[in-house]
Amino acid sequence: MALLSVQNLRAYYRTEVYGISRIVRAVDGVSLELQRNEIYGLAGESSCGKTTLIKVISGTIKPPLRVEEGKVHYQFGSFEIDMLHISPEDLRRNVRWKEISYIMQGSMSVLNPVRRVITTFYDIVTTHQGYTDRKAFLGQVRAHISKLGLPPDVLNLYPHQLSGGMRQRVAIALATIFQPSLIIADEPTTALDVVVQRGVLQMLKEIQAESNNTVLLVTHDLAVHANVADRVAIMYAGRIVEEAPTSLIFNAPRHPYTQHLIRSLPMIGDRSSRASLPGAPPNLANPPGGCRFHPRCPHVMDICRVEVPEMMTLPGNQRVACHLLAEGRR
Ligand code: SF4
Repeated sequence: MALLSVQNLRAYYRTEVYGISRIVRAVDGVSLELQRNEIYGLAGESSCGKTTLIKVISGTIKPPLRVEEGKVHYQFGSFEIDMLHISPEDLRRNVRWKEISYIMQGSMSVLNPVRRVITTFYDIVTTHQGYTDRKAFLGQVRAHISKLGLPPDVLNLYPHQLSGGMRQRVAIALATIFQPSLIIADEPTTALDVVVQRGVLQMLKEIQAESNNTVLLVTHDLAVHANVADRVAIMYAGRIVEEAPTSLIFNAPRHPYTQHLIRSLPMIGDRSSRASLPGAPPNLANPPGGCRFHPRCPHVMDICRVEVPEMMTLPGNQRVACHLLAEGRR
């Protein structure tokens, strides 16, 4: 059974300003499953709905965001939860950090700038595990950071005394202290240079391989997915348009949007210019009907303008939502 099952999820932002209501359909009919012991990559350009999707998956839904429809179910061993109906207390006590943890883009968001790193560890461990024995707590934290290859003296430093890469490693150490079943990593390397980025990704991979847990890696950077993910899903305008094992996504993409993304990646030795797509991603307060990619798609057909393409499963566990496949043209 999958660790996480999301079915037909619709999550919208509903606002009303001066009597004018506005609905932003940020996630609109997303279904996916995350298996145990895999790194699942979620890619897509800014404002495609990635962040909203992880807010719902991680149970951080606050107005004006509302879930309109769908299911979000977790199976942690014999312990099953319905994320859309769990109580805030149950979520805080039994799920956050212990079963689902979150690595944010900016590590300063999780580290308190005026407190030493050890104090942040203490706050999290005592809140979620209830330690009162300081010696046991220190033993647990020191063993954990040493396993991750971090020097013990980072614990006594303030966040501003650490480099960006070291801060992100500390954030990963915090997120994995309880060996959670799912780690959600939201753009974990975006602010880092490529050398540091590589070290941070390697650390994430090693943790996953050792703990056999699941990582949901969210980034627009396809090169990161190519290096790390087992499977990749491509999101466009609030929907998943393609999902496949990483090698298939990069070697045989089937959706025109994925094909464009892959073709636009720089290749070593290839000096030819890269074609850009016409237009821009749609405004999700007023998305186009049918396939949301149709105003930009070079293969658009009449049906694309009126009918939302169904997700089809192809050989090799590749899922694609495009009318070309139903028409047998690809
Ligand atoms: Fe293009 Fe139509 Fe496929 Fe959408 S459904 S990607 S518009 S061919």
